[in-house]
Amino acid sequence: MNYPFKLLEELRPGMVTLVGIPFDKNSSFLKGTALAPPIIRNALNSGSTNLCTENGIDLAEDKRFKDIGDIDFLNKENELDSIEQYITSLLKRQVYVLSLGGDHSISYPILRAYKNEYDTVNILHLDAHPDLYDELDGNRYSHASPFARIMEERLSTRLVQVGIRTMNSHQRKQAGRFGVEVIDMLEWQYGVNITFNAPMYLSLDLDVLDPAFAPGVSHHEPGGLSTREVIKLIQDIDVPIIGADIVEFNPKRDVFDMTAMVAAKFVKEIGGKMIENNLRYDPETAEC
Ligand code: MN
Ligand code: MN
Repeated sequence: MNYPFKLLEELRPGMVTLVGIPFDKNSSFLKGTALAPPIIRNALNSGSTNLCTENGIDLAEDKRFKDIGDIDFLNKENELDSIEQYITSLLKRQVYVLSLGGDHSISYPILRAYKNEYDTVNILHLDAHPDLYDELDGNRYSHASPFARIMEERLSTRLVQVGIRTMNSHQRKQAGRFGVEVIDMLEWQYGVNITFNAPMYLSLDLDVLDPAFAPGVSHHEPGGLSTREVIKLIQDIDVPIIGADIVEFNPKRDVFDMTAMVAAKFVKEIGGKMIENNLRYDPETAEC
């Protein structure tokens, strides 16, 4: 496994570290999410906008935010193991990881790495799909299964899912078995109060959005959240965010880079919130 050691040396405790994970082998329907990280970066650094977050942090200037590039998979056999090792090496430096998928299967090895460093990990999972299949098409590591693996291995103390609108009987049974708290679209209301009392990990599957806002995903599921509703959920988080992922952007399905720009907006708002609610960093802010 190869990754940018030079930049790794520049990491300090409490930094929010952006890392791309170009991996889509566990996608069940369409490939393409492996192409996402550099395209989200292009949108993030596009001349059409800036890197200021709505809570007043300039990610271009703020020393607490660092993009260290993409994972380079030299080992094409055991990528999930490589992801776990790579994220572990970052967490050993006491940084907070904001990762860009990739398909949703990457959340499982990421959470394995987190569980080794944190006693309690609560997860807020935004998705059209519960991703609780015991297996899909014979693949237990499918992007439809990461939260089954996560809950089986007790990597999360508490899992709250928001935006769900494809629950079938198998996954309903799985949700009951694992004690998952599900706020599905049927009961969704703007400004819903979701309280966490411990540091949390945010897993954001872009298909939680209505496809009208984010067409660049593999699984179009109409009737989802608006971009503003997801931003509101992020901004309402009042506990430290120890890690986050933004997954399932499929550039092959995108229209005029719309979804790339939405993903970049979420990088800004999640990154800004991770900095604002930070546990560790000695403040050295650069305000907008
Ligand atoms: Mn998902
Ligand atoms: Mn999904």
